[in-house]
Amino acid sequence: AKAQGKNNYQFYDQSLEQQAMLQVKVERELREALQADELEPYFQPKIDLSTGEIIGAEILMRWFKPDGSSVPPDIFIPVAETTGLISQVGKKAIDSAFECISQWQSQGLSHLKLAINLSIIEFQDAELIRYLLSKCDESNECGSQLIIELTESIFMENKEVISRTMEQLRTRGIAFALDDFGKGYSSFSYLQILPIDYLKIDKAFLQGVTTNKQSAAITRTIIDIGHNLELSVIAEGVEDQATLDYVMRERCQSAQGYFLYKPMPRNDFNTLINQECQQ
Ligand code: C2E
Ligand code: CA
Ligand code: CA
Ligand code: CA
Repeated sequence: AKAQGKNNYQFYDQSLEQQAMLQVKVERELREALQADELEPYFQPKIDLSTGEIIGAEILMRWFKPDGSSVPPDIFIPVAETTGLISQVGKKAIDSAFECISQWQSQGLSHLKLAINLSIIEFQDAELIRYLLSKCDESNECGSQLIIELTESIFMENKEVISRTMEQLRTRGIAFALDDFGKGYSSFSYLQILPIDYLKIDKAFLQGVTTNKQSAAITRTIIDIGHNLELSVIAEGVEDQATLDYVMRERCQSAQGYFLYKPMPRNDFNTLINQECQQ
């Protein structure tokens, strides 16, 4: 099995019937959770590898149930996507991001960037995009501190439409990262057509760089591609000093990972940012 349970939500090793029942259960609970506002944004700091400073964060959604248990995004995001509930998750992420960025602006922290994850499905949701545009227009240039990490949950069929939407969002200052590069369908053709600024190496490659020749070669190649295309390369999932040394040596621009900082609640993140700013 791919994952073992701290929770009762493993889709693996189950019959199709059990999976379908679980899907229905998660859907019902998620609908209620959205209403009860049980989703909470966590913030994982990103650091600049040449200075070691925090340059911003990525919002990762957490679902805590009243009984204290939690459901991981790898379980509830796919369910949200197939049931249409994802647009509410997306709205929550957008609202959280704008709230945080406007606070930064009031503190004069205009150098920090905040990233949210939007899947291709959310990206094709015209209403959600309109919502995002209106948030940009209502705010004082908050868009220029926002990064959208585009994650691919389904094969990207209409790249032209997506690319046009991206161009429209770029007029509000929003930047784009291609998430999970090298994994799944994510392919070179996106690099050709989509207007992106950052390339994010999936942690699955990085986790082997210090022990596995293949992973090291693939990672090095991805970094080269990013640099040749003049993209900023972000390493995710840095779990130890050796991996951090590796991505620094290979000249990734920035990094995230448990070795640096784990995703944390908003208050802890604020405290961390304020400490950094006083130094
Ligand atoms: P992702 O965007 O690729 O995010 C990276 C995942 O790796 C996160 O898992 C993060 O908590 C985890 N991570 C960070 N550092 C380390 C590390 O050093 N080691 C390891 N092993 N893992 C690390 P998480 O938070 O469980 O999220 C899983 C996926 O769910 C995300 O993958 C993203 O695709 C999706 N997701 C999370 N929040 C949202 C959201 O608001 N909207 C959408 N559409 N997707 C989201
Ligand atoms: Ca991401
Ligand atoms: Ca992902
Ligand atoms: Ca990833």
